[in-house]
Amino acid sequence: MPPGRYSPAAERVPLILRRLRRAYPEARIALDYSTPLECAVATILSAQSTDVGVNKVTKSLFSKYRTPEDYLAVTEEELQREIHATGFFRQKTRALKGLAQRLVDDFDSQVPKTMAELISLPGIARKTANIVQGNCFPEAARRDPDAGMAVDTHVGRLAVRLGLTEHNSKEAERIERDLVQVVPQRNRLNASNLFIEHGRRICQAKSPRCEDCVIESLCPSSQEAGLNDLYRFSRAIARTTPTMGG
Ligand code: SF4
Repeated sequence: MPPGRYSPAAERVPLILRRLRRAYPEARIALDYSTPLECAVATILSAQSTDVGVNKVTKSLFSKYRTPEDYLAVTEEELQREIHATGFFRQKTRALKGLAQRLVDDFDSQVPKTMAELISLPGIARKTANIVQGNCFPEAARRDPDAGMAVDTHVGRLAVRLGLTEHNSKEAERIERDLVQVVPQRNRLNASNLFIEHGRRICQAKSPRCEDCVIESLCPSSQEAGLNDLYRFSRAIARTTPTMGG
């Protein structure tokens, strides 16, 4: 019997990934970068912004600032002006300056490769660290016991709708812990990109297009099958339950 929508996650995930890979063979990170530093900067700037908007800003930014020292040499005001269009420009400027300073002070001006080192950097939490490590240092990711999977808003929503986690979609680190149980290390970067692509095109937050979905038969939230949307349900629960922190 092939897996169905209520089969255990470990049985459904390989099939889910196979179908998404067929639907989105080109799925990859949508941010433009050519070095690990640029990848880290672009990912920091992408918070609360669109990838298209970030790419517009970084086109000019990366032509002017190539090293951590360049980010330290520019004034805060000038850097704020450069990244203004990505929103939250004051916090992001502080994060970029802090990141540059740590890289110069402790890492010989290079972006480090391990998760432990990456998440020790200012402005870099697990999502950004996973994106930088997975895209720029895939070999290091394969050897790193702390390597995980980048969980953004799309990945979180998909994980909840597909019943791959019982946490609510905003609990990114808990969802990541659930996903790494069922997504093999070698597939995590690709899985994250596939979920993001599917979340953008088909499994949108407000109105998922279940009738056009290639993984509908594996989804316990299918509206095509008249089922409850686990994402909407978990959001409603989250609104009425005090958070436990951590
Ligand atoms: S069936 Fe609907 S809810 Fe499930 S993954 Fe597809 S689009 Fe999303």
